[in-house]
Amino acid sequence: MRREFTKQTMREAYERSEGLCEGILPSGLRCCAEVAHKKHFDHIIPDALGGDNSLTNCAVLCLPCHGSKTQKIDVPMIAKAKRVADKYRGIRKPSRFPGSRDSRLKKKIDGSVVLR
Ligand SMILES: [Zn+2]
Repeated sequence: MRREFTKQTMREAYERSEGLCEGILPSGLRCCAEVAHKKHFDHIIPDALGGDNSLTNCAVLCLPCHGSKTQKIDVPMIAKAKRVADKYRGIRKPSRFPGSRDSRLKKKIDGSVVLR
C-alpha cells in the first residue's frame, strides 16, 4: 500500500519550499517555479522502492518537474528494481528458442535431437 504524506508533512514541505518548486533541472540547478496553486508532493525515493513518507523524502514539485521525474527517473528505476529482484529470485521468461534449456527438445553433441 502507498504511504501518503500526512497533512503536517505537506505543510512543513511547503514551508521549506517557500512556494517554489524544489525540482532539480537537468542543468543541476533548482527549478524554482512558483507552485502556489498547482503542485505535487513527490516521494523523492518512490514508495515502491522503499521510500517513506517523512519530510526528508518529500519534495514540492511543479507539474512539469513531477511529470518528468516520474517518467525519466521513477518509472525506469522501479522497472529496473523489479528486473533485478526477479533475476535474484530466478524469475525469468521461459525462452522460446528451440533447443534452449526451456525447450522440450534437446540437441545432443552428435547432432541428434531427443526429447528431454
Ligand atoms: Zn519545477
